[in-house]
Amino acid sequence: MADDRAEVLVLGAGISGCALAFHLARRGVDPVVVYDPQTPAAGATGRAAGIVTEQLWDPWDVAVARESKEEYAHLADRYDRSAFAVNGFARWTKAREAVPVLEAAVERLRSWSVPVSVLDPPTLAEKVPWGRFDDVLGAIWSPDDAVVTASTMGDLYAERARELGVDFVLGTPASRFAREGDRWELTVAGQTTLSRRAVVAAGAWSKRLLASVGHPLPLAPYRTQAAVLRPSTLDTRMFPSVHDIDLDVYVRPEENGRILAGDGTERVEADPDRFSTGGDEQFVTHLAESFGSRFPGWADAELVRAWAGVCVATPDRRPLIGPVPGASGLYTITGFNGFGVMRAGGAAARLAAVLAVGDGSERELEKIRTVLPGRFTGPFAAFPIKPGFTLEGGDDPRF
Ligand SMILES: Cc1cc2nc3c(=O)[nH]c(=O)nc-3n(C[C@H](O)[C@H](O)[C@H](O)COP(=O)(O)OP(=O)(O)OC[C@H]3O[C@@H](n4cnc5c(N)ncnc54)[C@H](O)[C@@H]3O)c2cc1C
Repeated sequence: MADDRAEVLVLGAGISGCALAFHLARRGVDPVVVYDPQTPAAGATGRAAGIVTEQLWDPWDVAVARESKEEYAHLADRYDRSAFAVNGFARWTKAREAVPVLEAAVERLRSWSVPVSVLDPPTLAEKVPWGRFDDVLGAIWSPDDAVVTASTMGDLYAERARELGVDFVLGTPASRFAREGDRWELTVAGQTTLSRRAVVAAGAWSKRLLASVGHPLPLAPYRTQAAVLRPSTLDTRMFPSVHDIDLDVYVRPEENGRILAGDGTERVEADPDRFSTGGDEQFVTHLAESFGSRFPGWADAELVRAWAGVCVATPDRRPLIGPVPGASGLYTITGFNGFGVMRAGGAAARLAAVLAVGDGSERELEKIRTVLPGRFTGPFAAFPIKPGFTLEGGDDPRF
């Protein structure tokens, strides 16, 4: 069998890999091959809550989330309207010490042109009539935030990429991935693909994959959980996504009057091949207690299903996107710290621009400067995994 040749080989067909393939093809990079040993929704993308918010940590994040959101809105508008909605996002705290942190976040976000405002408890209660907010001391609101069905968005990218000629090799374990001379070689079911450049977009598996070719990066896969619940009153109105900062519980609307709720980060490393995929009793109990105290209107909601997925942390909570230091022709897009859906489209577009023009383009590299893997140098020690929805308010892990 003759070897296949690719200009870029993308390893991983989650939302990042599919978005990257689409953007590469759109920029005329050809041929592009995407490989995944499982299916496109096998990783975190098939398990995500899909909240897209600009209440983020730095201007790069905000810009990339905004670019992603625009792209998701456009894709949904053309191909599947059920996959995207702008519904706004509210967060609150009853902790006095968190109020100045929340206020500082509003100031900071506004300085990055993020439309956020402070909410008083009565206005919050109008937006979320199932809730009880009489003890809330501070709340903020982003009207332009959205929800997306991550797996559908991944599929839409993959379909567009296929239309543009991208080849997807799915569902079979590779027997080999290695550097050979000036090429990366991937062998799947006896067929070898040779490529000058390879991109590791393998989510929670990226850590192992990069280490296996001798180029480890500081990554830590961790488990996080979500559940779909059915409140007794079927209310199909779109309502805002919400996050209780103190309880670290978030909720977003789902189809057919259901709701999707989740909580944060488990701060220990997980093995993406051996983690517990169902929701724990402790998680379900925490949700029930949180609903009882915070959302009395949903307190009788019936659990439809609960599940877990594996996200990937980095030491500074920024993703790792770009050339892998010291590895010729090797790139990565990973380490999204639980926020990969909201950043995949924009991040992939920026990486595709670098790959399309070559690493030499300072102009394109500048757009991923803050997330380049080369900001870390090995050897890499274990590092603390930090929660996702924080306000960057110092050392208190809640904020
Ligand atoms: C419960 C939960 C809730 C979440 N909620 C949100 C949210 O509200 N908003 C948000 O933005 N993000 C959220 N996330 C995070 C988000 O899901 C991820 O950040 C995002 O999906 C990562 O996408 P990815 O394409 O990088 O990785 P993945 O979707 O994990 O895809 C990686 C792919 O790589 C493949 N792979 C494995 N090994 C190899 C190999 N050797 N070679 C090639 N491919 C390989 C896997 O099969 C998989 O398909 C949530 C995650 C979870 C689990």
